Amino acid sequence: MAAEDALRHERYAMVESQVVARHIRDDRVIAAMKAVPRHEFVPEDQRAQAYADRALPIGYGQTISQPYMVAVMCELLDVEPGHKVLEIGAGSGYQAALLGHMAAWVDGIEIVPELVTKARKTLAMLGYTNVAIHEGDGSLGYPESSPYDRIVIAAAAPDVPPPLYDQLTTGGRIVAPVGSRHSQQVLIVTKRDGDLDLDRGIGCVFVPLVGEHGWQF
Ligand code: SAH
Repeated sequence: MAAEDALRHERYAMVESQVVARHIRDDRVIAAMKAVPRHEFVPEDQRAQAYADRALPIGYGQTISQPYMVAVMCELLDVEPGHKVLEIGAGSGYQAALLGHMAAWVDGIEIVPELVTKARKTLAMLGYTNVAIHEGDGSLGYPESSPYDRIVIAAAAPDVPPPLYDQLTTGGRIVAPVGSRHSQQVLIVTKRDGDLDLDRGIGCVFVPLVGEHGWQF
């Protein structure tokens, strides 16, 4: 129990110094980041670093993003309690868990089968009943369960994958890091009646989105 208390203390300190101090203002994002035990989503040998100010390896050449970057993406997504959300590149399941606190339902898609198994196990152990992780190529979206109010891509895309636009509600929003393989900018696309509004956020570096509408190796 003392260990759990110490981890909670670290987590709250992380939220204050890395998230609130850097001007994340969305109370729902802040509450979710305080609630989700990030240390459960990192490999055993990374636990001591779980609340550090950086991305961490989760195996298979992939990473769990820096907490601040996750907070920025969640805030830009502007999730409301009734929303259905799609996360492309679910990795460890950490961001899906955060979104589970903020939305009604979350579908996460992950292309690495081992990460799917692990994320499902972690989310089940923590008792999430409104987050599902699917194995597949998220660059195609997840048409079987669309439309979504919000879609977030947690990997670097050469462009917003075209199939996603049809899987978005009117008034819906996509947040995605778009650019080259090595540096991107967060793109915010809002679907209006027959029109798309484009906005640009901060610069960032994500691992590449692969698959049909991702980077081809
Ligand atoms: N959001 C995750 C971290 C994302 S890292 C977390 O909270 O832990 C980006 C992830 O995108 C990696 O796990 C990678 O395997 C996955 N990915 C890359 N291309 C993909 C694709 N086409 N479909 C689904 N997942 C993909």
